[in-house]
Amino acid sequence: MKVIYTEAQKKHYPKNFLSSGAPQPNPEIPERADRLLAAAQSAGLTHKEPGDFGDAPLAAVHTPEYLQFLQRIHTRWQRIPEASDEVMPNIHPARRGGAYPLSAVGQVGYHVCDSACPISAGTWESARWSAMTAVQAAHEVLEGEGACYALARPPGHHASQDLAGGFCYLNNSAIGAEVLRSRYGRVAILDVDVHHGNGTQEIFYERPDVLTVSLHADPVRFYPFFWGHAAERGKGRGLGYNYNLPLPRGMTDKDYLQVLDRALLRVGAFSPGALVVALGLDAYEGDPFQGLAITTDGFARIGDRIAGLQLPTLIVQEGGYLCDGLGANLASFVQGFRDKHKR
Ligand SMILES: [Zn+2]
Repeated sequence: MKVIYTEAQKKHYPKNFLSSGAPQPNPEIPERADRLLAAAQSAGLTHKEPGDFGDAPLAAVHTPEYLQFLQRIHTRWQRIPEASDEVMPNIHPARRGGAYPLSAVGQVGYHVCDSACPISAGTWESARWSAMTAVQAAHEVLEGEGACYALARPPGHHASQDLAGGFCYLNNSAIGAEVLRSRYGRVAILDVDVHHGNGTQEIFYERPDVLTVSLHADPVRFYPFFWGHAAERGKGRGLGYNYNLPLPRGMTDKDYLQVLDRALLRVGAFSPGALVVALGLDAYEGDPFQGLAITTDGFARIGDRIAGLQLPTLIVQEGGYLCDGLGANLASFVQGFRDKHKR
């Protein structure tokens, strides 16, 4: 199995985010990628650089005005007298009408839904290359690799068609899924990050060709709060093609694996041609976000169960933050997955 990654993903180095109203060091830092790459290689994965597939795979998921915004906003922002170094919203329109502001400040409010997504000079380049890891890994799968790991950083699953949030700018898992759709009519996305994949849900919410399934800490008391509830089941032709499994805080391996089995049954019933695993490692018991309590060994068992589907599989890195177990958890997942996956 290969790990797809390039150093350009480290140019995005966000300094701060607001936590309970207070500025805190942003935990989505380049060192995450160093640790995950080392762990992937120690688990036997071969490193490959992503190719540049152009902007079309990004445009298949994100609106043109959002892509233009991400690309240009930092330069525009610097022209505002006394503006902050990093682009940060100071307006949060809960309900946006059809109008699109011309002002940079207005557009930041329109496109960035929380304070976890500062945009610096290197953000666009890193987010774009992060997405390219998913595109490259999806192509590896299309070309016959049974599975491939995209070390996507910054992560993506909170980003919707036109909205950044929760450290995410471009939705790498959704972008990878769309590449897989070029061959496989039906693709399932299974999100095991501790946070609900609200961006991914939003992107495919009215579609029956991509099943979205997410296991996550119950949003009644956990980010992203407004999405991820069991009653959100899809809309229109997509009704029944979104499956949320909100979990009580602190859930441990045994109970989690039972819920995972329900999720996998649903994926199996959808009969997809390929699978995308949105692999957050922040469900770990030692992760700073403290949402669930999965052990390092638990990740091996999660990998084992998912591999049991025996589907062509694109694994996309989502969350998982600096803590002693971060690398070991990835290695454990990969090992559990590879031992079972026969393709
Ligand atoms: Zn997360």
